[in-house]
Amino acid sequence: MDILKNIKDKLPNEITEANFEGANIVLYTSSENFFKDGEPKIKAVVDEIKKRIELRADPKILPSQEETEKNIRKIVPEEAEITNIIFDVHRSIVIIEAKKPGMVIGKQGLVLDEIRKKTLWVPQVQRSAAIKSQITENIREVLYANNNYRRKFLNEIGEKIYKEWSPEKSEGWIRITFLGGARQVGRTGFLLQTPNSKILLDCGIDVAAQDKDKFPYLNVPEFSLSQLDAIIVSHAHLDHVGLIPYLYKMGYTGPVYMTPPSRDIAALISLDFIGVAYKQAATPLFSSKDIKEMVKHSVCLNFNEVTDVTPDVRVTMYNAGHCLGSSIIHLNIGNGAHNLVYTGDYKYGRSRLLDPAVVTFPRVETIITESTYGGRDRILPPRSKSEEELIEIINKTIKQGGKVLIPELGLGRAQETMLILEDAIKRDKLEKVPVYIDGMVWDINAIHTAYPDFLSGQVRNQVFRDNNPFTSEIFSRVGSPQERKNVVEGGPCIVLATSGMLVGGASVEYLKEFASNEKNSLIFVCYQGVGSLGRQIQEGIKETRMIVDGREEIIKINLAVHILEGFSAHSGRNEIMAFFNNMRPKPKRIIITHGEVSQSLDLASALYKINRVETNVPRNLDTLRLK
Ligand SMILES: [Zn+2]
Repeated sequence: MDILKNIKDKLPNEITEANFEGANIVLYTSSENFFKDGEPKIKAVVDEIKKRIELRADPKILPSQEETEKNIRKIVPEEAEITNIIFDVHRSIVIIEAKKPGMVIGKQGLVLDEIRKKTLWVPQVQRSAAIKSQITENIREVLYANNNYRRKFLNEIGEKIYKEWSPEKSEGWIRITFLGGARQVGRTGFLLQTPNSKILLDCGIDVAAQDKDKFPYLNVPEFSLSQLDAIIVSHAHLDHVGLIPYLYKMGYTGPVYMTPPSRDIAALISLDFIGVAYKQAATPLFSSKDIKEMVKHSVCLNFNEVTDVTPDVRVTMYNAGHCLGSSIIHLNIGNGAHNLVYTGDYKYGRSRLLDPAVVTFPRVETIITESTYGGRDRILPPRSKSEEELIEIINKTIKQGGKVLIPELGLGRAQETMLILEDAIKRDKLEKVPVYIDGMVWDINAIHTAYPDFLSGQVRNQVFRDNNPFTSEIFSRVGSPQERKNVVEGGPCIVLATSGMLVGGASVEYLKEFASNEKNSLIFVCYQGVGSLGRQIQEGIKETRMIVDGREEIIKINLAVHILEGFSAHSGRNEIMAFFNNMRPKPKRIIITHGEVSQSLDLASALYKINRVETNVPRNLDTLRLK
């Protein structure tokens, strides 16, 4: 069925063009009157076909950019502080960047409505970033520079989705193959197949592993890049997203779906990844050109936004509470014939930065859950206790004249740690010592402030009220080798630095300097992968070989080592069990992945005992049939 022709037949002749933007349908009209008053007719069609339709003015009838900009500045109150107005001429859209986007929208969208009616351009509003971020600007540039390509690309996605379009329930089979990340943490990649779809869920790199164990098994008969319809990303940690630029390098040209913050962070984290490779004199897997391709082919979804990705798969992303933009992916397959939830990594517990993971879904038959802390002994201590402990360790270290190193994943708990430190200093619980931020953390801060809608209610309000905790004066950025030297030679301080598992990056540079002095402290607040230097230090090694100024040296680990598990971005065993207790509706089948084998098996038996539903703990390369 040709859905575009179907729609055009139902509407007056003024529709000059109809095309797709992904799963959305866009109509262009040359009639000013229909553009202004056609909504009821459009709505009637939407109700009938149950697809989103957007009406835009044909470029032929649009007033000039100059005139439009003048009009917009007249309509929008000055207090909105417009910082930029950008025209997407191929799509008749005008993007308005402002410090107070709410004032550009107006009460019940009244201001936007006026802009639309007076200028005929379709206005979109963006918040101006509180911290300038090169990466966010670069990404916007890539997208704008490729506007015309994207228009064609999004139309092709739509054509593919609607080629087999049928509003009926499908009776086809569904299978899922675990290419990586089963009975292990790292290199997640699952291939979902139906008669009409091949979709890859995540595609990560295990940075702590060696050689080919770093990557999911892509060299298997059922996986073919040229037949892949879509990639869906749960969140932008390397073990979920790291290999995606490489897929573009190898010739993939299809869409990758993720939230807007995940896109920005994925680009940043991939750039950092190849940077680390260069520093270790290794050949990077891919180049910045391939990262650009990923950005060019990204299709961003906000939480709770439903969209078709193939003829028989519809996706919705929900807050996972794990890191900025992290999502639980709900897949409606075959028009409701089967509903699969993939949790990605999730936190079902309170944190300062993010709201807890969502537990209510429209329908669920099967759920795939992570099990990083799935074992019965992995009950995380209460947050308040861990926060107190953190402050205590820092105070003690500072008092004895030492320095504190906290290795952080670029994305996630560094911002959480910053919120705790900022609050403690504000309340005089922590001495006011310098807090240095090194590595990728600063850029990630900028991305956090660019997407306040993805933050917890409290932090969001702080950002809205110009009381942005990430721009607090207590934090100093370390940007150059000289600045780093000053930190090393200076007095007591706190250093937050990437990478989180002490696998390359700034944190390793600080460790070299801090390790031998027993007055210093090393505090682990995130998961340490098997084989990583972080894990080895947790297990008690007393010395390690490191490259210092080009020569291998033995570094003694004399500093105090602390492990604080309460800050985990993953759900502890108790939180996973609570998630399943509160989850609605109840799943009929639970698949356990993303955990060391003992953790996954232990969680499986506990979930089985309580829920009495089929539980599976697949191995890598196993395929399960869901329907
Ligand atoms: Zn993660």
